[in-house]
Amino acid sequence: MQSVPTLQIPNALRQRFEAAQSVLVLTGAGVSAESGVPTFRDGGKATLWKGLPFDLISSAQMVQRDLPAVWEWFDFRRALLRDLQPNAAHNAIAHWQERFPQFTLVTQNVDGLHQRAGSREVIELHGNIWRARCISCNAIFAIPEEGNRPDECLACGDPLRPDVVLFGEMLPSGAFESAILRASTCELCFIIGTSALVYPAASLPEIAKAQGAFLCEVNPERTPLSGLCDIVLTGKAAEVLGLFDENSLL
Ligand code: NAD
Ligand code: ZN
Repeated sequence: MQSVPTLQIPNALRQRFEAAQSVLVLTGAGVSAESGVPTFRDGGKATLWKGLPFDLISSAQMVQRDLPAVWEWFDFRRALLRDLQPNAAHNAIAHWQERFPQFTLVTQNVDGLHQRAGSREVIELHGNIWRARCISCNAIFAIPEEGNRPDECLACGDPLRPDVVLFGEMLPSGAFESAILRASTCELCFIIGTSALVYPAASLPEIAKAQGAFLCEVNPERTPLSGLCDIVLTGKAAEVLGLFDENSLL
């Protein structure tokens, strides 16, 4: 494995990037760090909301116990996100969907910044904070950036909850299966800004590698997947992916 303090794109990666037909990108909270969204490890986890720890207020149990409190917390998080913008990393990834015949973006983020940068068909493993879902019939409703969010289901009238995977919940059906399918056929796989501790998301690069893909990690710190990667670009996502732009590789 080559580990590079990144001021340039190494040739081995450049060649793969130029030749690749099928690329998969897995992102985590680090890709949004430079937009001002705290990562889970650096701050998010320690957040208390009205005295409740992050993993309790964001849990399946709380939806049962006190749905209005869960909404208050998610309304607060959306309000913080409203003024934040996608960064150079989100933008670069959005360009890549035009560059490769087969391109898949899988994210663990719920902030919607990939979509705001122009990414389409994002596989969202943990849902999206800008959507609400009916607790009974699972109908999905977009939450507008401005104005009121819907508070009951337009199809059946039952309460809505955030369409986000909470602690103690399974991944949405279908999302992980599609991601596995794409991971097992990609030639080049980027792992960007994820601590690679949350499974099953972290198994996607392992699947890609087992099928012969070239793995490239972008992270200022090492992760449990670093040793599996062919190249580790040590640095912040926006700075490192910005290099692809400077090198006209977008
Ligand atoms: P994590 O907080 O566990 O790890 C963040 C990773 O990003 C770390 O490895 C860190 O070294 C790296 N990082 C920090 N700054 C970076 C930068 N500027 N550029 C590149 N990498 C950087 O996040 P995770 O792996 O995504 O897993 C935590 C869980 O928390 C996920 O399930 C996710 O759904 C949730 N979460 C989402 C958001 C969001 O939507 N933006 C924010 C926080 C947490
Ligand atoms: Zn309903």
